Amino acid sequence: MHRVTMLEGDGIGVEICASLRKVFRAAEVNIQWDIYQTGEKHFEKHGELISDDCFNSLEKNKVGIKGPMTTPIGTGFRSANVFLRKKYDLFANVRPVKSLGKIDSKFENIDITIFRENTEDLYQGIEEMEDENTAKSIKIITRKGSERIAKEAFEFAKKNNIEKVTVVTKANIMKFTDGLFLEVAREVAKNYPGIKLEEVLVDNMAMQLVMYPERYKLILTENLYGDILSDLCAGLVGGLGLIPGANIGKDIAIFEPVHGSAPDIAGKNIANPTALILSGCLMLEYLGEIEAATRIKNAVDKTLSDKNNFTRDLGGNKSTEEFTDAIISNL
Ligand code: NAD
Repeated sequence: MHRVTMLEGDGIGVEICASLRKVFRAAEVNIQWDIYQTGEKHFEKHGELISDDCFNSLEKNKVGIKGPMTTPIGTGFRSANVFLRKKYDLFANVRPVKSLGKIDSKFENIDITIFRENTEDLYQGIEEMEDENTAKSIKIITRKGSERIAKEAFEFAKKNNIEKVTVVTKANIMKFTDGLFLEVAREVAKNYPGIKLEEVLVDNMAMQLVMYPERYKLILTENLYGDILSDLCAGLVGGLGLIPGANIGKDIAIFEPVHGSAPDIAGKNIANPTALILSGCLMLEYLGEIEAATRIKNAVDKTLSDKNNFTRDLGGNKSTEEFTDAIISNL
């Protein structure tokens, strides 16, 4: 029996977490959930986004799954998501983007995994107003941070017989920071003679991905570029409601969908729970429960192969609950 900490999050978080638990229960997966309310609702009651009990549970269980948490723009409030990644040094953000079922999208057979460095770059939040007309933000890239994400990406390529790793930077302009990230990727690549390192600048990468996405299998990149490119890739296969993610550290891992709390559709029972359910499958694979992960992924794919099951974001009219029940009937 695995024990997993669940952070329900904001907006659609509670609805999609309920859907995940229902599917996992029906699949008879050996998991006991320790469930915590987190985010805005918890903040209103207790003045904190995540309780100490929740942190303690994460530290004990070592594995967590979370719904999205809202980050108000332009306030003093820093992102609880970024905070968690920093607190537990969850340095690798892994986002597999795959074509699913019969979803209408511009491309077929997309299978791209993004390895995004998760703790450095402009996301460290080192910002200040120099004077009232000048804002400053500091970008930090370290050899250690670049090396561990590069190794993680190359190890994944080796394990999955991927012949090419595409490293994405803007090293022609940011010669020190992006230059270091690229230099380290080149050094790490030398230890993997069977795998080619392809170097692409981020602006060109954005264009390549919308024209020839089938040319890419594994993207290795920094924090900000990885965040933007993974939303772009989500658009290639049918939208944000479909893409799972893993935040992996040395001791602790937290799994979460790529999308945010979707306040525009929260509480309406229309959110697509696929991204969170597939994040749960990444978690099962991490826990060694490969058979259960495959069974659930196949049920999701089968469900998405029938357009009658589609939720609103995919052009259908099924509710979150109806979609969840369809997955269960396909298990
Ligand atoms: P968002 O991902 O919440 O929503 C963007 C659009 O996609 C919206 O129209 C939304 O309805 C739709 N959408 C997203 N997920 C969906 C799903 N599962 N099913 C159907 N439609 C879905 O992005 P946003 O509006 O920019 O952000 C909202 C809040 O979420 C912000 O406070 C942001 O900071 C936060 N956020 C949190 C995380 C996280 O917790 N890791 C990630 C991204 C954004």
